[in-house]
This record gives sequence, C-alpha cells and structure tokens, in this order.
Amino acid sequence: MKLPPFEYEAPTTVADAVGLLAEHGDEASVLAGGQSLIPLLALRLARPEVLIDINGVDELSGVSAADGWVAIGAMTREYVAEESGTVADGVPLLAAALPMIGHEAIRSRGTIGGSLAHADPAAELPAVARALDAEFVVRGPAGTRVIPAAQWFEGYLTTSRRPDELLTQVRFPAARPGTGVSFHEVARRHGDFAMVGLATSLVLSGGVISDARLAFAGVSDMPVRAAAAEDVLAGQRPSAELFDEAARRATEDLDPPADLHGSSDYRKTVAAAVVRRGLRAAADNARERQ
Ligand SMILES: Cc1cc2nc3c(=O)[nH]c(=O)nc-3n(C[C@H](O)[C@H](O)[C@H](O)COP(=O)(O)OP(=O)(O)OC[C@H]3O[C@@H](n4cnc5c(N)ncnc54)[C@H](O)[C@@H]3O)c2cc1C
Repeated sequence: MKLPPFEYEAPTTVADAVGLLAEHGDEASVLAGGQSLIPLLALRLARPEVLIDINGVDELSGVSAADGWVAIGAMTREYVAEESGTVADGVPLLAAALPMIGHEAIRSRGTIGGSLAHADPAAELPAVARALDAEFVVRGPAGTRVIPAAQWFEGYLTTSRRPDELLTQVRFPAARPGTGVSFHEVARRHGDFAMVGLATSLVLSGGVISDARLAFAGVSDMPVRAAAAEDVLAGQRPSAELFDEAARRATEDLDPPADLHGSSDYRKTVAAAVVRRGLRAAADNARERQ
C-alpha cells in the first residue's frame, strides 16, 4: 500500500532534530528504523504531516559503559546491540532478549530507541527496561530530562515523552556479580510477537537470592513488574517450591487481554509457566556465571 503524503526532513544533528520537533510538535513523527512506523503509515493508522528522519544523526548511535551504567544511543540498531560485547557483559538480560525480536532483517533496521519509544506492550525491550529500572534520556526545547522506566510507559503505545522531545539515549544499570538472567517467551511462531514474555534477573549471593526482578510482556497495555513475586523470592534459596509460589503470586492479580491467540485465562496459565521456567533458567545462569 502507498504511504500517505508527508513532508520529509532529514536533520544530521540532535539540535536540528529537536528544533524541527519544536516547530512541528504533534504534527511530526520521528522516523528511526521504520519497522513499526512505516506499516502504521501504510495502514493509515498514523497520519503525520512531517516525517523527521533521524537516520543521519550519527551522535545518536553507540554503546558505552561508565560509572556502573551501560548507555545505548537511541539510533543504535538492535543487531548492533545484539553483537556488542559491552551489552553482553554489562546488560546480559538485554543480550538475552534481543535475538527474540522478530527476525534478523527486522533487527538490522530496528533501533533500541524505536522499540522503546513505540512501547508495544508485547515487545521484549520494554519488559527488559522495566525489569532493570532503565533510564530514558530525552531532549526537547526546554533541555534534557531523565525519565525512569517506571514513569516512561503510560499505556498502549504511549510513553511520557512529549511530542517535542527526542529520545536520545537509554541507560541500563550494569549487572552486579552473581547476576543470572533469562528472557522466556511463548509465541505462536518463531519471530512473532510474544503471547506472553518474561524478563528475569536474579542476583545470587552465597546461594541466596539477594535481588529479584521480573517484568512481563504481553499481559497488559504496558510492561508489568511482578512485584509480589519479587518479594517472595528475596532472601530465599532457589527451589522448585519457591518458584511455584512465585509463579502463583506473579499471576494472581493479572487480567491479561484476550485475543484470537488465546483467552485471558489461557494467557494467565502461560504466564505462570513462563515464570517457573524463567526463574529456573535465571538461577542456572547465575550459577554458571559464578
Ligand atoms: C514483521 C515484524 C516483526 C516484528 N517482531 C517484533 C518482535 O517480535 N518484538 C519486538 O519487540 N518488535 C518486533 N518488531 C518491531 C521492531 O522491533 C521495531 O524495530 C521496533 O518496534 C521499532 O523500532 P524502529 O527503530 O523500527 O522504530 P520506528 O518504526 O521508526 O518508530 C517507532 C515509533 O517510535 C518513534 N520513535 C522512534 N525513535 C524515536 C526517538 N529516538 N525519539 C522519539 N520517538 C522515536 C517513532 O516516531 C514511531 O512512533 C517487528 C517488526 C516487524 C516489521
């Protein structure tokens, strides 16, 4: 299907991109990898008057580690992050999630910032960002703001970014020693969006779970942290019984959406299974990495 007509701008600096956003506000859309935006335009689900293509803004790409954080530029392609040693060492949960996004062709164009700005509730990276308490750096006409992940996701495809702000960077806290991770998901076919996904990070200290972080994809209109299950896990030794209890607590208040792939009850059952599997895999991973 042909795209609707729009004006096209291609800035080469963040300052110019922010200037264009300030000029056009919510009449403009930012074009990153285009893997979500172009289909929305083709289906007429988005009708921006101006497209601000940030593919030429080199300063928005790159991965760096400093002061206990790994910073990823918004335009860093998903496959570049997937192949990055800095990401594998510093944010192993992100490294585990990236290969589950669609197919290689999509990850070669899709960007870290694009996925997190799009905020699809079934997507992998929003769950990772929520589990790890990532920080979102946005720049607008009034300057730079840093938004914690707990405040970034506001609803279906909705974030707290203002229309005149550009997401420039996402920061993830570097994994502590003893960390084990897993990203588990159930999808109808390889490469499809997950029916239910779970980002899991555990820290084992002396055989005891000192920190547990779990966030679901696909069970609500935004990624959901399983706080009750995290409380059950903290201070305990990993065991099948503990993981069963965590699965029960993680899912007792869930009310997942029903669609043609499954009922709400079915999704809830899948979510509990994903919690048990995810915790087992993360505990094994923590032991392997010690
Ligand atoms: C067939 C197919 C299968 C897919 N499967 C999956 C999957 O399994 N899991 C998954 O997570 N994703 C999947 N995707 C989506 C893919 O990961 C996209 O790349 C991603 O969601 C959007 O990234 P993008 O860089 O392409 O962003 P774009 O499509 O360019 O933009 C997406 C949205 O974010 C906004 N935006 C982008 N960058 C910025 C920025 N820096 N500042 C402000 N706003 C910005 C845009 O304006 C737009 O609204 C799939 C896509 C396709 C086509």
